[in-house]
Amino acid sequence: MGQSTGESPETGASSETGTETLTETPDFIGAFPRLSEAQIEVLEPWGQRRPTAAGDVLYREGDPTCDFFVILDGKVKIVECFGAGNEERLIGVHGPGRFLGELNLLTGEPVFVTAAVGEPGEVLAVPVDRLREVVARDTTLGDLILRAYLLRRSLLIGLGTGFKIIGSRFSPDTRRIREFALRNRLPHRWIDLERDGAAEALLRALGVAPEETPVVIWGKTRLLRNPGNAELARAIGLRSPIPPQSVSDLVVVGAGPAGLAAAVYGASEGLSTVVLDAVATGGQAGTSPRIENYLGFPSGISGSELAHRAVIQAGKFGAQLNVPAQATALDRDDGRHVLTLEDGTHLASRAVLIATGARYRKLDVPHLERFEGISVHYAATEAELQLCRGDPVAVVGGGSSAGQAAVSLAETTVRVHLLVRHDDPGRDMSRYLVEQIEHNPKIVVHRNTAVRELVGDDVLEELVVENLRTGEPSRLRARALFVFIGAEPQTGWLGSQLAIDEHGFILTGARAAAARRDGAMDGEANGSWYAAGREPSLLETSRPGVFAAGDVRSGSIKWLTAAAGEGAMAVRLVHEHVGA
Ligand SMILES: Cc1cc2nc3c(=O)[nH]c(=O)nc-3n(C[C@H](O)[C@H](O)[C@H](O)COP(=O)(O)OP(=O)(O)OC[C@H]3O[C@@H](n4cnc5c(N)ncnc54)[C@H](O)[C@@H]3O)c2cc1C
Repeated sequence: MGQSTGESPETGASSETGTETLTETPDFIGAFPRLSEAQIEVLEPWGQRRPTAAGDVLYREGDPTCDFFVILDGKVKIVECFGAGNEERLIGVHGPGRFLGELNLLTGEPVFVTAAVGEPGEVLAVPVDRLREVVARDTTLGDLILRAYLLRRSLLIGLGTGFKIIGSRFSPDTRRIREFALRNRLPHRWIDLERDGAAEALLRALGVAPEETPVVIWGKTRLLRNPGNAELARAIGLRSPIPPQSVSDLVVVGAGPAGLAAAVYGASEGLSTVVLDAVATGGQAGTSPRIENYLGFPSGISGSELAHRAVIQAGKFGAQLNVPAQATALDRDDGRHVLTLEDGTHLASRAVLIATGARYRKLDVPHLERFEGISVHYAATEAELQLCRGDPVAVVGGGSSAGQAAVSLAETTVRVHLLVRHDDPGRDMSRYLVEQIEHNPKIVVHRNTAVRELVGDDVLEELVVENLRTGEPSRLRARALFVFIGAEPQTGWLGSQLAIDEHGFILTGARAAAARRDGAMDGEANGSWYAAGREPSLLETSRPGVFAAGDVRSGSIKWLTAAAGEGAMAVRLVHEHVGA
């Protein structure tokens, strides 16, 4: 084992002349709390005591799920690449009173590390369904476990455990796979062909030519050559097959804040609810490093934690989440709504909520595509931050998303140029961000400035910018450019099925009714309203039973709280529709 010689600060493992002495991993941040005797007593009737012997494997990397284990006696090692010789890595050691597992137990994802008994003793094994029942009854215990599991997932991601992605930083497919892993908050390690000396040797050992990269390695046996997101999701057991068709009460398209709120309220109100997302749960909010204005979180919350919590909550009430699952068409059949997915699956439902949000606009400069995914980015998550650590960078945009990105990039880069087209950064940006930017010596604000040219061969080296007042061009050194210049609605897949405004956002309520009166809808749609004998409700589109919420809706306030509120409100209206 890699760490078996001497004391390891990471794991607390030590060895003495061949006999391994296991030292427990310290609990610095609350990720490994010990259960009290009273809490173990609460769990005991739901599980089974089991004696353990050194070497027993309680669960293994790649298992689709596992029990919830509490250590009663002895020690358990958490190991990555268990049984893979030199590659085996000790992640942690736990003793009596501690419980095992991480977020996958609550989200239904597969197991990312192996738990092997280090010192014999006894465990309490609680089947995962039972665990969900217990924590629903004992909320203090539930909170303790959830908090520990959220922290453990961050630790696993930080340690680079999970599946391996080998690929070049210049490859758009490498970037796609990494983005998929990061946006879905999946533990993984990226081995950069350009910078990691071991990458080529590893590829040779696997019999993979560099031009066949990126590849994904999962467990001891799975090697995927440039997998699509859906293929990767299936291979690691993330995407559960959509069950053979029955008609759901509600299908929610898009799992951003609006869609997740609808999932929680829909399922908790007794609607059979299916949620689809093309990329990841969390939507735009999932790409935000810190949301400071979400009600109830005075010290802010990261978008990914918010998404995780909502996903667990939606799952708890029985909503069925499917990622990645992209809707490509919406039709009607025999009074039902039918959604077609990219893989050809059809889903029928009584009501549909469209919560597909918006995606950032692109800059109008030559050769943009050449740099996209390599030096030009539309989000500032850990993935992008890793690519430009220590470099000078530029952010384009005058809204709060640009401001947030500038502040978070200033933590890891040497200089952030914030380019704003007008002369007042406070015009469209939250006051707290303007203040943080003003007080940050690493951020230089360029007012009345637009990007005209991207300069560089493989990667961005410089920007040519223009002062819009004077027409004067100048050059800025920047290895990455972050673009936040407004958003376009994700409605292209709907064709002409629903009435939209001049910018492509979906009309609802009185404005959808007006579109119908103005003759903007086809005869069939008009006929269905006639049959319904009513006007569209507040969040209902130009088709009865199809609702829209969040950023995709015309006239919506483009805030997270507003999107979540609309998602919840839509459920109420869906209820009335389904009931009727
Ligand atoms: C970097 C950043 C920081 C932000 N910070 C804040 C903040 O601090 N405070 C605040 O109030 N707001 C903030 N916002 C805005 C806020 O995140 C959005 O208003 C909110 O996410 C909108 O939620 P939504 O559910 O309507 O749509 P989105 O969040 O856009 O989610 C839409 C989802 O639909 C999916 N989708 C799209 N098309 C399809 C399809 N055909 N099939 C299946 N799925 C599909 C997408 O993959 C996406 O996950 C920020 C936005 C960004 C980008």
